Amino acid sequence: MKNIRDFTLAELEEELVSIGEKKYRAKQIFAWLFRGVTSFSEMTDLSKELIAKLSENYYIENIVDSKSQKSKDGTVKFLFILRDGNAIESVMMKYKYGNTACVSNQVGCRMGCNFCASARIGFVRSLTSGEIISQILEIERQTGEKISNVVFMGIGEPLDNYDNVMRAIKIINDPKGFNIGARHISISTCGIVPKIRQLADEIELQCNLCISLHSSKDDVRSSMMPINKKYSIAEVIDACKYYIEKTNRRITFEYALVDGVNDSKEDALHLAKLLKGMLAHVNLIPINKIKDGIYEKSSTEKIMSFRDTLNDNGIVATIRRELGSDISAACGQLVRQQKQDV
Ligand code: SF4
Repeated sequence: MKNIRDFTLAELEEELVSIGEKKYRAKQIFAWLFRGVTSFSEMTDLSKELIAKLSENYYIENIVDSKSQKSKDGTVKFLFILRDGNAIESVMMKYKYGNTACVSNQVGCRMGCNFCASARIGFVRSLTSGEIISQILEIERQTGEKISNVVFMGIGEPLDNYDNVMRAIKIINDPKGFNIGARHISISTCGIVPKIRQLADEIELQCNLCISLHSSKDDVRSSMMPINKKYSIAEVIDACKYYIEKTNRRITFEYALVDGVNDSKEDALHLAKLLKGMLAHVNLIPINKIKDGIYEKSSTEKIMSFRDTLNDNGIVATIRRELGSDISAACGQLVRQQKQDV
């Protein structure tokens, strides 16, 4: 049995032909999937025979919400249980310009960043494109709200699940799918250099790229993110310059400020020097403290002063508004709680 949400429209057309059906049926089925139906029998313009055939060959991935939490600011965090019993998290955030879905792309993560609750779960498996798509459909179904932006910033490293993430992006972008423009889709990576270059060459889908940088010094970054031992900051910056050259898109560098680790004036000046002249934006994030975590959040004064130093040195920097701070909004926290509950 195959998950029918795993297919792009073009792939679904091939599937339909392979089971002896007319190609145009794929458009009807695809449209139903994005109206959020949870069973083939709800596809009322299909014949009984076709519905039976679909049920024999495919399933609709209906993920189950086991423990959603709603923040006072409207942020909703979902703990979804997949068909095989694995748990993932997704978040819906409300902004003036629309609703953003933050989706997971793996069960756990193998990148091992030591400030991240997802890393503590350990890597289990990558999600299929249908499982990624199901998170958005289920968020829309449960909240009754339309999603207009998608960010790959939940559990998992998207460039470590490249093909499925790319297929999911094609479906999200498809006018007959979610019809969300590439400019409203963002991928956040810890810096897998060859994949950043590959992404730059995806001419059809030039989405926003965010790099989790967190330090401009190799020794500090390696202590926070093991991936830095494989791809140094210089290599990541080179790949980012290639991305900018190919796409003419601005890159966002995410920088989680940790008290006494990466938040001094000297750190800000060092970062400004690294990014000088690049089409870049720095997003400063007060680090989210996780259970058993070793890092403490920088003070508000330090965060503001870090931003001012960057701005004074020609780097556009903003401080990310903390959404969902009254719930377990940092990715991986709900799954860890659930694992400890059982
Ligand atoms: S921060 Fe991202 S890449 Fe690093 S361990 Fe967490 S989910 Fe993986």
